[in-house]
Amino acid sequence: MSATAMNPTSRAAALSRMATEELDLLVVGGGVTGAGIVLDAVTRGLRVGIVEGQDWASGTSSRSSKLLHGGLRYLQALDFKLVNEALHERELLLATLAPHLGKPVSFLYPLTKKYIERPYVAAGITLYDVMARLGAKATSPFHRHHTLAGVQKLFPDVRPDVMVGAIQYWDGRVDDARLTLTLVRTAVEYGALAANRVRVTDFVKTNGRVSGAEVTDLESGEDFTVKAKHVIAAAGVWTEATQDLAEAQGGLKVLASKGIHIVVPKERLNGEVGFILQTEKSVLFIIPWERYWVIGTTDTPYEQDYVHPVASQADIDYVIDHANVVLQKPISRDDVIGTWAGLRPLLQPATKGDGTASTKVSREHTVTEAAPGLVTIAGGKLTTYRVMAEDAVDFALGEAQAKAKPSQTKKTPLLGAAGYSALSAQAETLGREFGWDATRVNHLLNRYGSEINTLMALCREQEDLAKPVEHAPDYLRVEFAYGCTHEGALHLEDLLVNRTRLTYEIADSGLAALPEIAALAADKLGWDDARRDAEIAAYTARVEAERDAATQPDDAAAAQARSAAAEVVDAVN
Ligand SMILES: Cc1cc2nc3c(=O)[nH]c(=O)nc-3n(C[C@H](O)[C@H](O)[C@H](O)COP(=O)(O)OP(=O)(O)OC[C@H]3O[C@@H](n4cnc5c(N)ncnc54)[C@H](O)[C@@H]3O)c2cc1C
Repeated sequence: MSATAMNPTSRAAALSRMATEELDLLVVGGGVTGAGIVLDAVTRGLRVGIVEGQDWASGTSSRSSKLLHGGLRYLQALDFKLVNEALHERELLLATLAPHLGKPVSFLYPLTKKYIERPYVAAGITLYDVMARLGAKATSPFHRHHTLAGVQKLFPDVRPDVMVGAIQYWDGRVDDARLTLTLVRTAVEYGALAANRVRVTDFVKTNGRVSGAEVTDLESGEDFTVKAKHVIAAAGVWTEATQDLAEAQGGLKVLASKGIHIVVPKERLNGEVGFILQTEKSVLFIIPWERYWVIGTTDTPYEQDYVHPVASQADIDYVIDHANVVLQKPISRDDVIGTWAGLRPLLQPATKGDGTASTKVSREHTVTEAAPGLVTIAGGKLTTYRVMAEDAVDFALGEAQAKAKPSQTKKTPLLGAAGYSALSAQAETLGREFGWDATRVNHLLNRYGSEINTLMALCREQEDLAKPVEHAPDYLRVEFAYGCTHEGALHLEDLLVNRTRLTYEIADSGLAALPEIAALAADKLGWDDARRDAEIAAYTARVEAERDAATQPDDAAAAQARSAAAEVVDAVN
């Protein structure tokens, strides 16, 4: 088994080492920020561990718009520093760090008025394109101007009476949960200790300074202490709750703002590019993925359960209504095959606001020492995780140590990146022995990069793994097996929610494929029949609760409906 394999055995080994060895750094929270921090720290030569209370990326980092972008709207707000930093990170990810996971994607910015609007918008997008190219090799084309006829060629289903033309510009797209998971696996490759479903319940202090954490392994129910010279919490919307565990006097104030997305089948909209649309409060994206469209998002203050935010009827209607502004054949509720909701961890200004103006709060990140020995970091974006990680580790180490052990992540490609372009060039022939066509091989390359070699080796050992899953044929059986043996999946829901995204990608949320996937997981994870049935029941209950929530009028009713499904660890263990 390769050094990067994450599974129950490697998890148990990591936990036993965390319980017995003193770490240089313990990272709390396995979203993209924590995952970035653990990779940054381990590649500086530190002994590092990371614990995540749910599955990897289950917080906001699996629930974003999945764009690697500078953010045109931040440019409108004249936030040049944020845009510039994010554009550089976008280019670094697309070109070097994760070319297998990140892909360029283009959007049309509609122009509604003749003559006056075009030069103004073009100036902004030119600045955006130029910033992305400063000191970096461009991964995508410079923006292009289109008349209405040009727009109709790129997106035949556009409503012709709502725009006079458009400007096409490029950004990036990434599966946020897979990016996070790949960061953790890359860190493990370099020697980091990593365990999901391990929650920090308290901090331990030595002479008033945080010197470790009390944790609970939610799979076994066992409690133990992890000792560490430094602790960094990257807890997203749970930042204040984490600081409270340390009885921190200072620290960050974080506001939660909900954003939802809907998923519509690819064939429902005739078009090959996306749209960025202005809304009253923010922007709405229509984003093309290979097999579907993702449309969102919303931006509303949120006060319900943070663990399972869900889309309500009102959220879905809002997104449909705003997308329909540019669609000739309007979409309806019946076209929506999936949804997800996420919570933005928005840093509040020093004085707490009244919770109603979340759109005005800065997207930039802040790192601080919340209590002696406990560093917290929050804010920022998926796109800028690497800079956030570098800042957090620099801060925790202090100037002298940070200088002696500088960050290496700018030049550390993620697992699967090395060899990706050569393998892509072989897409026509690479999967011939298994009867895979180039589309299938590209699907694998874009999820695993050069780790495709490991998946092929597994198929050679066990022939049936090379076949598609009967009721989810876009995925091969080996992907679910590999999810258990190499990607740290502990439950059926881990395979359908974050390793693949079947939960929102197909209309039945993967329910018809459950028996086949559960049998694969049972084989790889050693489940008996009772455990397998409990896993199936837990995922089914989750899907039903989310569907019920999506028919509820508001956040409170939707959260109530979602709460009908128990936590998977409670349902099956
Ligand atoms: C709707 C929406 C759209 C977005 N779109 C984009 C986009 O297109 N591009 C972009 O760049 N950014 C985007 N973002 C922002 C981006 O998603 C977030 O900034 C980022 O995911 C935050 O990551 P994080 O690791 O800080 O937080 P999280 O992903 O929430 O991670 C925090 C983790 O800490 C864990 N945790 C908390 N307490 C404990 C504890 N006591 N013990 C153990 N673990 C604990 C949680 O379980 C959680 O997994 C979007 C955000 C939203 C909500």
